[in-house]
Amino acid sequence: MTLEALVNYAKTYGFIYQGSEIYGGLSNTWDFGPLGVTLKRTLKDLWWHTFVTQDAHVVGLDSAILLHPKTWEASGHVGGFSDPLIDCKSCKTRHRADHLIESAGLGLSADGLSKETLEGMIKEHQIVCPNCGKHDFTPIREFNLMFKTGIGVTEESTQSIYLRPETAQGIFLNFKNIQRTSRQKVPFGIAQIGKSFRNEITPGNFIFRTREFEQAELEFFCAPGEEKNWFESYKAKMKEFLLDLGLDETHLKFEDHPEEKLSHYSNATTDVMYEFPWGFDELWGLASRTDYDLKQHQDYSGVNLEYIDPITNERYIPYVVEPSLGIERLFLAVLHDALEEEALENDTRTLLRIHPKLAPVQVAVLPLIKKRHKAMAEDVFKALLGEFRVQYDESGAIGRRYRRQDAIGTPYCVTIDDDSLEKNTVTLRLRDSMEQITLSLDELNPYLKKALTR
Ligand code: ATP
Repeated sequence: MTLEALVNYAKTYGFIYQGSEIYGGLSNTWDFGPLGVTLKRTLKDLWWHTFVTQDAHVVGLDSAILLHPKTWEASGHVGGFSDPLIDCKSCKTRHRADHLIESAGLGLSADGLSKETLEGMIKEHQIVCPNCGKHDFTPIREFNLMFKTGIGVTEESTQSIYLRPETAQGIFLNFKNIQRTSRQKVPFGIAQIGKSFRNEITPGNFIFRTREFEQAELEFFCAPGEEKNWFESYKAKMKEFLLDLGLDETHLKFEDHPEEKLSHYSNATTDVMYEFPWGFDELWGLASRTDYDLKQHQDYSGVNLEYIDPITNERYIPYVVEPSLGIERLFLAVLHDALEEEALENDTRTLLRIHPKLAPVQVAVLPLIKKRHKAMAEDVFKALLGEFRVQYDESGAIGRRYRRQDAIGTPYCVTIDDDSLEKNTVTLRLRDSMEQITLSLDELNPYLKKALTR
């Protein structure tokens, strides 16, 4: 499935539309339609369920998007959260220097390298502009990715403030509050899901890189020396989560950063890579961040953020392990993995072979003939509404209605026909095998419950 086909599919079926379309569109913004918002919510709910609800040592948070400006000085974002920007002097296109090097087809890796090193590499390998093929670039400039805005009503009283570029800092700011009020003992974690904003130099690849996106982040606080164990345990948990969503294991890669490539605050980092239509790219990051963040906030705020071990009375700043996931990237991976054009005997069908627990519509109720079967179909629909994600569709030939449900990934279609009226039975059609089975009306709900809570 090409990216273009995926974008068309997402629009045709109401998963994702171009943002502000009636005004000609606002580039790289996307709106999630009825099926899209349902899938996105389901993914967030499953993440929350797995990483928060099911774990007695993790609690949740929903912090503000606007944080005190000092937050971003302490975190290093004001000074260091920038991307290396380079312009082609010939065709005036703008590039991220590290991406320019990595996509040159030379197998080079440029992540986290200094401006000088990147410039040296571009020169040494005579890397050319992917747009015009010339090697004629400006020097690299560092471009800060944070969106700045003003808070306050009058010109004079306006204070500069940033939209958060990650949700994690809201967690660090609340570490002490949460530890005290929820009476958690280290080791414990704090999780949140929310919007983040980055003024990306080169947004693109559909919803993969946008300026506004959602992150699901978790900061797990542990005693110094224990972070590597927690790191490995989260790595395993993340893998299990992705496989449980039905992603094909061969489309996933866990890439450990080599020692020399680690950020100054990190003693272990792994990128979870998924094979998107353009190749493997980052889906989820896992970083062991030592005590860097809490120490910085302690220094900048003057508030003591140490933890006192209740048994040993030892005081220390906890170490942190952070899994950080982009919800839209997960959405894209799930859609890409499930979507196929399946060849049938004399035909093809668009099939979204998505895990039933993720399907935006889990059950479709279809009267075979509208006039005759509508009343009973509506009763069946009403009985299932609220129990499952269910849709009623009475228009068009039954074959076409099945195809539409296949295309949006509906695992079960319930058809009401003459037998239903006479014998109180329904026909259940299965998406993947297209097999049809007969169930009595009484069996329907328990059958679906069992099938959909697997
Ligand atoms: P990249 O190298 O792709 O720019 P990153 O390493 O800067 O990503 P992190 O800061 O580690 O990303 O953010 C954690 C996660 O948030 C990423 O793994 C990704 O899933 C998601 N993410 C980051 N930037 C974006 C974006 N611009 N659009 C969508 N998701 C994003």
